[in-house]
Amino acid sequence: MARVYLSPPHATGRELELIAETLASNWLAPLGPQVDAFEREIAATAGVGHAVALSSGTAAIHLALVVLGIEAGDEVICSSLTFAASANAIVYTGATPVFVDCDASWTVDPALLERAIVERRASGARVKAFIAVDLYGECCDYDAVRAICAKHEVVLIQDAAESLGATYRGAPAGSQGRLAAFSFNGNKIITTSGGGMLVSDDGAVIEHARKLSTQAREPAPHYEHEELGFNYRMSNVLAALGRAQLELLPERVAKRRALRERYREHLAALPGISFMPESADVVGNAWLTCIVVDPAVAGTDRETIRLALETEDIESRPLWKPMHLQPLYAHAECHGGQVAEGLFRTGICLPSSSSLDPADQDLVIQTVRAFAHRPT
Ligand SMILES: *Cc1c(COP(=O)(O)O)cnc(C)c1O
Repeated sequence: MARVYLSPPHATGRELELIAETLASNWLAPLGPQVDAFEREIAATAGVGHAVALSSGTAAIHLALVVLGIEAGDEVICSSLTFAASANAIVYTGATPVFVDCDASWTVDPALLERAIVERRASGARVKAFIAVDLYGECCDYDAVRAICAKHEVVLIQDAAESLGATYRGAPAGSQGRLAAFSFNGNKIITTSGGGMLVSDDGAVIEHARKLSTQAREPAPHYEHEELGFNYRMSNVLAALGRAQLELLPERVAKRRALRERYREHLAALPGISFMPESADVVGNAWLTCIVVDPAVAGTDRETIRLALETEDIESRPLWKPMHLQPLYAHAECHGGQVAEGLFRTGICLPSSSSLDPADQDLVIQTVRAFAHRPT
């Protein structure tokens, strides 16, 4: 029996065909027709006008901050319950991250966000931007978030690394912020083995990001540089892989949503076990199915379940450890924090790949059920 991973890559489409075409064409540099096409296709998927393909989602968030002019002395607010990449990009610019807790939705608490902006501004801080994180494929409450950002003139950056293919009130994830970042890391819903994309309706900021991503060359026959650039461009070969993956995105979303429904059918009635809430405004991509285990009611706890799954050679993971609990960010300011802390203590991500075998999902379900109380 092979180990069951949390979210391994899944390649069953035209990957080989498109990569072979690319090799045959000799467009192997970080530019070429596959990159151009992948950018157009991701922009269309995200419902925005412009996109630039990059070496990672982290690079996309970093460049979003750079093109907005974020620099040392500025503050950028960020959801605390996220992967470190969201916050690390702030530090790359020299700016200071300020964290905000989530609410019962597991995504940012809009009231706390507004309080953080007002309090930081009152103490003289230059609050420039907010990075909203679409957690595990669910979008934030963007009507509330956008109204707050507009009212206080804070630029909204959407970390959509986990939400490609989701929708918020019918609009694709990635179209809610001034800029949005996607990730095609190996564990995401589609992959280029490593890669990312920055998207926006603002063509000028995307053109600027494109220039910065190739060492900020000026138009001259020699290498001329006025700005500090980066080597962040996606290779044309990996863009071919991404295009083949993107063709199957609707199928991948449907599969992950079906897995979540099946988990729900078999686990949701168990006392003390609950699922990540789903907003009526959002159709999530179900990137990962996550449950929380209330040890006072469930007859078990998160860690017991995780270790039991590990014994069956099944990978599962606690939810993201909130940034304000990370040693790296021990000195950062955090507004609220207890909701994310509770989720980190009790939450677990279950195997969710679109390639997950039904028999393997059964084993996950049986293992969780073996430790939980039966419904009375
Ligand atoms: C994966 C991820 C990123 C970073 O993407 P990489 O492509 O791995 O650099 C950023 N934010 C969140 C929330 C993620 O899950």
